[in-house]
Amino acid sequence: MQYRTLGQTGLEVSILGFGASPLGNEFREIDPAEGQRAVDAALDAGINYFDVAPYYGRTLAEERLGTFLDGKRDRVFLATKVARYGKALPDGFDFSAERMVQSVEASLRRLRTDVIDVIQVHDVEFGDPDVIINETLPALERLRQAGKVRFIGVTGYPLQILRALADQAPVDAILSYCHYNLLDTRMDAVLTPFAQASGVGLISASPLHMGMLTQRGAPAWHPAPEAVKVASETAAAWCAERGLDLATLAMQFALAHEAVATTLVGMSSTRSVARNVAALEAPMDETAMAAVRELLAPVADVTWPSGLPQNQDDAVLAALSSEAA
Ligand code: NAD
Repeated sequence: MQYRTLGQTGLEVSILGFGASPLGNEFREIDPAEGQRAVDAALDAGINYFDVAPYYGRTLAEERLGTFLDGKRDRVFLATKVARYGKALPDGFDFSAERMVQSVEASLRRLRTDVIDVIQVHDVEFGDPDVIINETLPALERLRQAGKVRFIGVTGYPLQILRALADQAPVDAILSYCHYNLLDTRMDAVLTPFAQASGVGLISASPLHMGMLTQRGAPAWHPAPEAVKVASETAAAWCAERGLDLATLAMQFALAHEAVATTLVGMSSTRSVARNVAALEAPMDETAMAAVRELLAPVADVTWPSGLPQNQDDAVLAALSSEAA
């Protein structure tokens, strides 16, 4: 396993990170015993970064991960989140200072630990940026001073709001998802240069585009437009005809990014862990990679809305340019 430093945190994280949302049955119901084996296999492979959230399985993923890592806490960096607890606004989110304290205490209990390595504001595009800057992040800073968390980050889907927040508030890490993989590389236009210039740690999640870049295909709830799903199915069929695995190619593409400290892939089985670790080590089939990229090119960088209208990329850019004028 290779390791990289996460921004200026000093954390030496494995370039392949364990995304724990599938442990909360977010993709399908899993066998908890197999989930435990997947976590153990990941540890054996040298994976030391685990990302979870209270939202995943509405606390189930945290509960399970806490159990699975019992007695092994010192071998990993644990990242979890605050502020998102349900699917939609208004009830699914709470960015208040008061909730930050309760949320971190509850995560510490579920994760069976006394400190969280990276606490992240979950899906910032659903919040008012002024509240996040003046209330949410200062509350997390107080929790840092109290020794409950070590580093602070922001996560989300639209890119400009992540950059704008990290520009205005002192955060240690940004987690972007579905924006650096075979279907979408927009992270590189917006976050990569910013992270490199500012020293903020860069975490890229969903190298399989939330399950879409696999032979099995996307879960029914996937928010991407139909054309993206169809193109991905075509790429998967092209791979299957040649005895190739689309997920392996997708993992190799994402993991080759050197400015990303860790790439988080969702896993809940030993089979996925073994395949993703093997993808790291196997030589890249350049011909197949080029062919798959060509099949996916017509739907490259197709996005979907997420969060408040004011936090969509165009709106944030317009606000920034009117401030500058
Ligand atoms: P992903 O792209 O990692 O896809 C996960 C799906 O692919 C799961 O169904 C998993 O079982 C399957 N899979 C994994 N390896 C496979 C393989 N080799 N072959 C076939 N199938 C395979 O999407 P994700 O899980 O959404 O993202 C990874 C992690 O990143 C999450 O678990 C979470 O920890 C984090 N994340 C955070 C945010 C956020 O903070 N807003 C958003 C998305 C993801």
